[in-house]
Amino acid sequence: MPRHVERIVLSRPAPGTERVLRVYRWGDEAARPKAYIQASLHADETPGLLVAHHLTRLLDEAEAAGRLSGQVVLVPYANPVGLGQFVNGQQLGRYELSGGGNFNRHWPELDALVGEELDGRLTEDAEANVALIRETLKTALARQPEPSKELDRLRLALARQACDADLVLDLHCDDEALFHLFIIPQHWPALEDLARELGAQAVLLAEDSGGGSFDEAFSGPWLRLARRFPDAPIQPACQAATVELRGTADVHDEVACRDAEAILRVLVRRGYLEGEGGETGELPPALCEATDLEACDTVKAPAAGVLSYRVGLGALVAKGETIADLIDPAAEDPQAARQEIRSATDGFLLSRCSHKFVSAGASVAKVVGRERLAHRTGYLLED
Ligand SMILES: [Zn+2]
Repeated sequence: MPRHVERIVLSRPAPGTERVLRVYRWGDEAARPKAYIQASLHADETPGLLVAHHLTRLLDEAEAAGRLSGQVVLVPYANPVGLGQFVNGQQLGRYELSGGGNFNRHWPELDALVGEELDGRLTEDAEANVALIRETLKTALARQPEPSKELDRLRLALARQACDADLVLDLHCDDEALFHLFIIPQHWPALEDLARELGAQAVLLAEDSGGGSFDEAFSGPWLRLARRFPDAPIQPACQAATVELRGTADVHDEVACRDAEAILRVLVRRGYLEGEGGETGELPPALCEATDLEACDTVKAPAAGVLSYRVGLGALVAKGETIADLIDPAAEDPQAARQEIRSATDGFLLSRCSHKFVSAGASVAKVVGRERLAHRTGYLLED
């Protein structure tokens, strides 16, 4: 069966124009397991678009060779709204310019949609519960009326595709960064194959990062339903990850092709595709251990100014060590113009800011440590 292409009209933002989402599917719609992969929900994070391009080719080839045994759904550009947002020549794809906020925040808690309907229908059969919950989620989203706002239509269209998947990969990138993953602790070490195949240099664990991110919208409901129905066995059956494909400038054909091949090997290992001889040998070595997101310091600029880093990505830093200087261009005395920005933990530098003039309170670095930090509670993400 060749790739199935679905074109979903999201909106007609102006007369004569039309915004269309494309959804590719390899394998039968009823086939299991089901993987859902989407690129660039933050539309100004380009690496995912190129990985999706390579993945499309690889999956077409695998399909032509009759290797599909499960189902893979790929949304090669998850945010056509943001892709088109250019202001004075600059793409602004993180927030909806019409006021809808960050595209990867405030995703609804889907368990609230199905909790009542599941009441009294779950049994002691864990597998049957998984199937029932998936079916109920899918039906509940299918019968949602089409929202009038474009952003809500986009969210609903993506959620309908992802809600019953076994594996959800949301392809993002940071500003300047090493490869890393965000997942919930319940899925570690189950997702170690993904981290090792992709060469992740950090795996950040949080059950609830406080932001309502896309990945947690699909992994989270299973945890909350298990708490709501303690008498029924409910496994965390949707493994979801935010995959940070390094930094925004890390867009290279060869690198994206290798990333896509790594994702394909994960799909082979997990039974979505039949393997070809020698395609998946031993897993590559782990490049990191998983650490708590609460142990990852998001270093903030204390004031507006010019940022000058002292350390590069991957550098080991000690608690209290200066990682950057912040220079106030308005200071008349050059001696008083500088302040040092320090790390709050022992760890390594995962990300930096590429634009070097920052506002007060801006995140300027992530330092991955091992000890939970007292100030890291509640909202654990960047804006
Ligand atoms: Zn992102």
